[in-house]
Amino acid sequence: MKKVAIVGCGAYMDSGYGCPGEWRCLKAAALGEGKFDAPVSPVALLRCECPGRTLASNAGMVEKLSEIKPDAIYLSSCMVNAKPGCPYAGAEEFAQILENKTGVNVIMGTHDYP
Ligand code: SF4
Repeated sequence: MKKVAIVGCGAYMDSGYGCPGEWRCLKAAALGEGKFDAPVSPVALLRCECPGRTLASNAGMVEKLSEIKPDAIYLSSCMVNAKPGCPYAGAEEFAQILENKTGVNVIMGTHDYP
């Protein structure tokens, strides 16, 4: 089973109300739904925190401390499909930053649940 890290928008996760950090991303990962082709094993659930400058270093630290290099990093649907969008960077920019830092392929989005 593939190991994955999932990155969510901390600002959105903090607002609660059925946030992906509570169940949507993890459900899609467990069932192999949405952007997941098959069930996967999440080994990290990272929060981006405004203005996003710690994301790359935190991703690197998670990999170092867990001693697990994920097969893929998934940017949550709340990061990829945000309306209005993140005021600091686009999802593509975050994905590029993460790929440069970790060398791991970044997938845009996690689930299609309402
Ligand atoms: S920087 Fe953008 S993506 Fe990151 S937590 Fe803030 S609003 Fe969300």
